[in-house]
Amino acid sequence: MSDAATLIEPDDTLADGVAFIDGRYMPVAEATVPLMDWGLNRSDLTYDVVAVWEGAFFRLEDHLDRFFRGIGELRMTSPHDRAETAEILHQCVARAGLREAYVKVILTRGIPVGSNRDPRALQNRFYAFAIPYVWVFSPEHQARGVHLKIGATPRISPQAVDPTVKNFHWGDFTRGLFEAYEDGADSVILTDGAGNITEGPGFNIFCAVDGRLITPAEGVLLGITRKAVIELAEGLNVKVEVGALPVETLRRADEIFLSTTAGGVMPVSHLDGKPLGDGTPGPLSMRLRQLYWEAHADPRYATPVRY
Ligand code: PLP
Repeated sequence: MSDAATLIEPDDTLADGVAFIDGRYMPVAEATVPLMDWGLNRSDLTYDVVAVWEGAFFRLEDHLDRFFRGIGELRMTSPHDRAETAEILHQCVARAGLREAYVKVILTRGIPVGSNRDPRALQNRFYAFAIPYVWVFSPEHQARGVHLKIGATPRISPQAVDPTVKNFHWGDFTRGLFEAYEDGADSVILTDGAGNITEGPGFNIFCAVDGRLITPAEGVLLGITRKAVIELAEGLNVKVEVGALPVETLRRADEIFLSTTAGGVMPVSHLDGKPLGDGTPGPLSMRLRQLYWEAHADPRYATPVRY
């Protein structure tokens, strides 16, 4: 890997982000994907996103575990092993000079040769990039709370597309987002089509109800932020139930929040146009949000970027 890597001099164009493709680092604006890649044509890929905060990756090992598990599930092989992958992510962030970054790594099925349609015949392709940190909802928006809609579009069946393998099958989410916008909401949460809540476009969900936190067990990505929140809540002696979350239970929740690498713990203030409590973020959501950000400095979870 390192033999093929081309060094580039630091310059201003790199501050918007740095990508790694085919053994070469480049400004993200110059990074392109070959038209024939099945990542584009078939959404045949897996990926992961890890955050860098104050110069350190947060829970990098958890993200690498999930990425390599997904690769195995899709019967793909990465040209870069775990150590090389970590090194590439460090390099992307360091070369961009970012202290707060959104760092994505993607493995696609690759480019077919001729008319061979056998996925086993393709050489899988590796892409990575680091750009400035992305917020699904800005900190100001989080402080007033997110307006969430329960979508009419169900989440794609987990029997069809395994949601625990991080993927770009976002047709259901995008449809749901348009439903939300038409109702004046900020985002959407999808059901499984059988009355249970699953997840939303880029986040897991938690609700505080009957003296405990519930987060859905099935039909969801096993979010790393979700994992962090479960641990933090248990540290507060809050009971966490990872199980079914029926729509009716969500509707009578005291508090709701969303969790994602791209924004952290994001409190919800309104569900389907109705205020939760007094229509401002609840105290448990705000406490967990604070603890979540504090955990970024914890050496158990922080991997300093090798700038
Ligand atoms: N669910 C979906 C569908 C996602 O795409 C994401 C993140 O992108 C999440 C949940 C949250 O996962 P994490 O906390 O690991 O970022």
